Amino acid sequence: ENLLKVFESGKWWYGEKVKEFEEKFASFQDAKYGISCTNGTAALEIGLISCGIKPGDEVIVPPYTFIATASSVLKVNAIPVFADIDIKTGNLDPKDTEKKITEKTKAIIPVHFAGLPVDMDAFLELAEKYNLKIIEDTCHSWGSKWKNKGTGALGDCGAFSFQMSKNITSGEGGILLTDNKEIEEIARSYSNCGRGKDKPWYYHYILGDNLRMTELQAAILLAQLTRLEEQTIKREENAKYLDENLKDFEGIEIVPRDNRVTRRSYHLYMFRFIKEKWEIEREIFIKALNAEGIPVWPGYPIPLYKNPLFQKKAKGPEGCPISCPYYGKEIDYSQIYCPNAEKLCEQAVWIPHPVLLAEKEDMKDIVNAIEKIYKNREQLKGKI
Ligand SMILES: *Cc1c(COP(=O)(O)O)cnc(C)c1O
Repeated sequence: ENLLKVFESGKWWYGEKVKEFEEKFASFQDAKYGISCTNGTAALEIGLISCGIKPGDEVIVPPYTFIATASSVLKVNAIPVFADIDIKTGNLDPKDTEKKITEKTKAIIPVHFAGLPVDMDAFLELAEKYNLKIIEDTCHSWGSKWKNKGTGALGDCGAFSFQMSKNITSGEGGILLTDNKEIEEIARSYSNCGRGKDKPWYYHYILGDNLRMTELQAAILLAQLTRLEEQTIKREENAKYLDENLKDFEGIEIVPRDNRVTRRSYHLYMFRFIKEKWEIEREIFIKALNAEGIPVWPGYPIPLYKNPLFQKKAKGPEGCPISCPYYGKEIDYSQIYCPNAEKLCEQAVWIPHPVLLAEKEDMKDIVNAIEKIYKNREQLKGKI
């Protein structure tokens, strides 16, 4: 119905539906302003620009995330600096983050990994102490709340994705949320070709880009948004069941929950597989679970800095930002080592979010399958 209305209206871009979605989604996340855009990667870039991140600035990011968390930093000619994660949660570790702060550091991009909010109290304290911006990577955390406030405007701004694999989707799409009027104005201008608010159409004030969302995307998202609350609650209930039934399981480590997390979205349900306890390889365990009909997978195979993009070293042919003249130092990612991120890449097992919309019986099936494999693991030993 929403789509038909848009098709028949003759207005296919940047109109009423986009405006309505921006307002409704911002309100859903307890934020003041929403600036829609083409995807989550663009939302991160818009966030960095709107927070005033300049060429040569350092921005601290986790290595256990999707490439966009770090590549958006490179796109604005700034330098991603990797700090390690907490192995238990997969979230950026505030203590290791503090160790990586230098006089060039201007921002931190914590990822609420799998929908679990990071320790925002600790990050906001770092922001205050070192005068840093916090750009939340909220591309897993639609509906998550930290101390009863939605993610996205807990720091300076937050970047959401509505790409096909996400919990709420229009195929592609994104939005930046913020409580800050100044950030909102820059973000709106930057994402709309550098235009000015209420200014003549063909006047451009900053170097922007065309990153606008279409009415068709907003029409789909408005329909999806009506179900998001209910689905978030259902996923959380099912995840709670898995937590309770797996928490004492030999060789399975579930993700602990902080009391300050008042609602948790699950982009995926993660646990750690301790192969030393099972005496079989994780890949074999995953194959066996798949054979039992449980769709699990290992997730990120390597920490971001191990990607060819970063391992090429500083003096590549790319010029700025991989060897950024504004930085004044050589950039070399070949020596980076974040032990927890490395370990989690070897231990993680991910259950994708659609599974958590199934029934309690289906959750029981998951637990039963894990028990069955554990009991029969002798048969799987030595296999690779
Ligand atoms: C999906 C995702 C993004 C990027 O979103 P796109 O819409 O695909 O550009 C950024 N960060 C994380 C953690 C993601 O999972």
